[in-house]
Amino acid sequence: MYGKGIMRGLSVTLKHFFQTYVDDLRYGWRKYSPKEDNFEMRQGMAAQGAFTVQYPDEKLAVPERFRFVPFLVVNEDDHPEAPGKDWCTSCGICAKVCPPQCIWIVRSEDPNTGRPIPEPEAFFIDIDICMNCGFCAEFCPFDAIKMDHDYELASYDRTTSHIHDKDHLSKPTSYWNRIAPTRAAEEAEARGGWEHIDVIKERKKAEKAAAKAAKK
Ligand code: SF4
Ligand code: SF4
Repeated sequence: MYGKGIMRGLSVTLKHFFQTYVDDLRYGWRKYSPKEDNFEMRQGMAAQGAFTVQYPDEKLAVPERFRFVPFLVVNEDDHPEAPGKDWCTSCGICAKVCPPQCIWIVRSEDPNTGRPIPEPEAFFIDIDICMNCGFCAEFCPFDAIKMDHDYELASYDRTTSHIHDKDHLSKPTSYWNRIAPTRAAEEAEARGGWEHIDVIKERKKAEKAAAKAAKK
């Protein structure tokens, strides 16, 4: 039984060994060129064989479903109607479901009426406590919190630099679309468009009202 497992392991090593030469024949010298356009053949998900990655100058591509710490989705800075607007409505669901309770949210308030506004005034995640489970992203009803691919977060500071605030956490929609194109497209299809779900709902409501008015 043990012998079988060892043979299977060795066959994987052997497969990678030969795949290195297959990729060499396929790409030639381009695979080892320091130019950036060889990323897919050398470090991309389709790369095969055994090779040395010169980390940190080079990095292996991570799969789309890779998850590290969460980030918040916000509109682009050049969005025509609401530049930089948070997708988060500060509903608090992510903070409730977070197993180690490392999310803090302060909801915005209207300065005149004191009534709550559905957007966060402050949002903090302690990434030293976050266990990268992805529950917050799974449960968010507004697609506003996502798991990032950026895993280089080490620092010499053990105090506040690992408590990410709203500025640090906020990344534009284009970033999410770039790191997770398949999931972003699936989510947009489920929402009915690429915008925030509330914007899509408002637009549909306005279209219905316009159609009703036109019938009269
Ligand atoms: S990130 Fe999502 S779940 Fe968390 S408070 Fe904002 S809208 Fe709610
Ligand atoms: S990934 Fe998990 S542990 Fe980290 S903030 Fe989200 S729910 Fe909490």
